[in-house]
Amino acid sequence: MDLIYNRIILKISGEALAGKKGFGIDFDVVNIICDQIKEVKEMGVEMGVVVGGGNIWRGRNGISMDRTTADHMGMLATVINALALQDALESRGVPTRVQTAIEMRQIAEPYIRRRAIRHLEKGRIVIFAAGTGNPFFSTDTTAALRAAEIDAEAILLAKRVDGIYDSDPLINRNAKRFDSLSYIDILNMNLSVMDSTATSLCMDNKIPIIVFDLTQPGVNNIKRILMGENIGTIVK
Ligand code: UDP
Repeated sequence: MDLIYNRIILKISGEALAGKKGFGIDFDVVNIICDQIKEVKEMGVEMGVVVGGGNIWRGRNGISMDRTTADHMGMLATVINALALQDALESRGVPTRVQTAIEMRQIAEPYIRRRAIRHLEKGRIVIFAAGTGNPFFSTDTTAALRAAEIDAEAILLAKRVDGIYDSDPLINRNAKRFDSLSYIDILNMNLSVMDSTATSLCMDNKIPIIVFDLTQPGVNNIKRILMGENIGTIVK
């Protein structure tokens, strides 16, 4: 089967994992996501997964805290999510490795680029945890960085909305969805969908970003994208 991308980074935000609860991990959502990942993996795509942590903790929540410490907490939150995803994937027979940007060897491998690529070549899903390992960054930036490092052809940026709108579609019913945007559009319009660091990293390395809805019931949108359907918003 012809796929339009053979190696991708799937970015799953923490918010997506929380489902309707808005906090913590909703295992119904995790199961839906992992079923989709299993299906596309069996189609032969090589996939790295970058997972966020906003369902547990975001650095900017720690208003009265030292920002670096608050960001360390955020990066640890991504590790919790990564282990939940790993468990759900392995229970489906999908081989995985978690690699963390902050060493915690009893729990996961440290991030080693060449090893990550080897895992992908062997058909394992690599889950990248602990962000970039640095405070003041986001997991969207991690997705851009890891995509550039492992030569991914695209970033599939899973959100709870089905693309990029000119205003928040959950608030404004007349919000307009874009089919396609340039990196510069995103930077100029100051859209909150992706931070500027992540956007410029993708721009410099010519990595397209597809913003789409991962948790639409009954549809595998990752598969639709890989089969060449134009869903969501493509940034290129
Ligand atoms: N974080 C960080 N450096 C990174 C990636 C993440 O400090 O390279 C921290 C930051 O505090 C962030 C939190 O981890 O708020 C969770 O990541 P993010 O907000 O990107 O998760 P998402 O919004 O995707 O759930």
